[in-house]
Amino acid sequence: MEPDSIAGLSRALRARKVSSRELTEAALARIGRLDPLLNAFITVTPEQALAAATAADARLARGEGTALTGVPIAHKDIFCTRGILTSCGSKMLANFTAPYDAAVVERLAAAGVVSVGKTNMDEFAMGSSNETSYYGPVRNPWDPERSPGGSSGGSAAAVAAGVVPAATGTDTGGSIRQPAALVGITGFKPSYGRCSRYGMIAFASSLDQAGVLTRSAEDAALLMEAMAGFDPRDSTSANRPVPAYAAALDQPLRGRRIGVPPEFFDAGLDARCEARLREALQVFAALGAEIVDVALPHLALSVPTYYIVAPAEASSNLARFDGVRFGHRCEAPGSIEDLYKRSRQEGFGAEVKRRIMTGTYVLSAGYYDAYYLQAQKARALIAADLRRAFESVDVIAGPTTPTPAFRLGEKTADPVQMYLNDIYTIAVNLAGVPGISVPCGFAGDLPVGLQLIGPAFGEGVVLNFAHQYQLATDWHRRRPPEPAANPAQGGRR
Ligand code: GLN
Repeated sequence: MEPDSIAGLSRALRARKVSSRELTEAALARIGRLDPLLNAFITVTPEQALAAATAADARLARGEGTALTGVPIAHKDIFCTRGILTSCGSKMLANFTAPYDAAVVERLAAAGVVSVGKTNMDEFAMGSSNETSYYGPVRNPWDPERSPGGSSGGSAAAVAAGVVPAATGTDTGGSIRQPAALVGITGFKPSYGRCSRYGMIAFASSLDQAGVLTRSAEDAALLMEAMAGFDPRDSTSANRPVPAYAAALDQPLRGRRIGVPPEFFDAGLDARCEARLREALQVFAALGAEIVDVALPHLALSVPTYYIVAPAEASSNLARFDGVRFGHRCEAPGSIEDLYKRSRQEGFGAEVKRRIMTGTYVLSAGYYDAYYLQAQKARALIAADLRRAFESVDVIAGPTTPTPAFRLGEKTADPVQMYLNDIYTIAVNLAGVPGISVPCGFAGDLPVGLQLIGPAFGEGVVLNFAHQYQLATDWHRRRPPEPAANPAQGGRR
C-alpha cells in the first residue's frame, strides 16, 4: 500500500484498515527501491521507525492518539534528531550525532508521527538545487536529469515520489516553496516565529523558519497544528495561540480579495508558467474571489538584500564550527590557528565558503554602512510594501519560481543565476510572512507552482485559499511516472 494523503491515512489508521507498521514498512521498502536513483535520504532509520510505528499502533488500538498518530514522514537533515546523524548536508557535520531532538521533531513525535529518516539537502541549506549537498544531488522524480530544487530537495523528492505523504523542511529564502513547485507538491512556510527554531541548525536566524512539504494544503494544516506554537527555548518564537487551521479550510472565497502585483509578472517569468498562473487566477475568480492589482515597488531589491543579510547572519552562525566543539576536525593540527583553518577548509564546501566570505565582508568595519545597513533599510521597505498590500487584500498571488525544474549542472557554474531562482520567494522571508506553493499545472512534462502569500500570522488564510483552490482543481493529485529504479543513475557520491 502506497502512502497517500495524511487525511486519508489518518482515517484508514483509525478505522484499523491499515496499521502504522504496514505503512512504515511500505515507506521503507519504497526508499530501498527508489532511493538509489533519487538520493532523497541521507539517513534511513528503520529500527527507530518500526519501534515508533509499533507504539503508534498500540496507541491507536487503545483509541488514543491524534490525527497524525502512525503516519510516516521524514525530517530534513537540518533538524537535530537524538542519537541519529544530523549532517545538515555538510562534511562538517558528517560525524555529528545530535544529543537532543529539535522542537519540531519533538512535537511531531509527541503527536505520534513516525519518522523514517533524514532527507538530503543543500549544505547548511544554502542553495536552490540540492547540488551543494556533500551527499550529492537529489533527482527530480518527474525527470531524473533535473533538479528537484533546494534546499529541501530531499524532502520534496521523497513526497513527490510517494515515499512518504509529508516531510519537514526549512525556508530561509524559499527552500520549502521552491522545491515544492519544481516537483509538483504543496510547500508551506509559516510566519517567522510560528515554529520553534530550537534544534534547527541555524543558517540566517532572522529568516529561517520550519514548515512542511505535503500533497495538499489540508495535510499542511494538520501538520502545522502539531508543529506550531510557543517555545521558551527559542527567544524569537511567537507567544500566541495556534488556531485550528484545519477547521478554517472550508471558508468560502466569495467576496474575498486576491492581490496580483505586476512586479511578479516580469520579463524573467517563463511564458508557460505565466499562462498557468493566469489560469489559476481564473479558478479563483470562478470561486467568487475578486482579483485586484497591488504594488510591491521594492520587490526588485529583494534578491540583493537577501544576499547581504543571509550571508551576514550565516558568517556569524557558522563561526561555531571550529573543529573543537562540533563536527569535522583536521588531522594532526600544528597549532590552534591551523586547527581552525584546516578544519573549516576541509569541512565546508565551496558555496558555504562563498557565503561566509560575503557575510564577513558586508559586516566588516569598512563596509558595514555601505552594505549591511543599507540592506536592513531595504528589508524594511520590502516588508512595508507587503504590509500596505495586505490592508486591501486577503492574500497575494504570484509565481513560486521563474521557470520549471532546470537540469542538474545547468546553473552550478554561475552563483548569481542560481540566486535568481529565489526572486519570487525571498520577499516573504524578509517580511516574515507566511507563503505556500501549490501545483497549478504543467509546462510540458514539468510541474508549475502557484504561490499564495498572507499577512503575518495569517497562516489560516493562506491555507484556506490554497485548500479551496485544491478542491476546485486536481493538479495536486498528479503523480510523476513511476521511476525506473536504475542505481547506475544514482546521485550518491
Ligand atoms: N536558495 C536560497 C539560498 O541559497 C534560500 C535557501 C533557503 O531557503 N534555505 O540562500
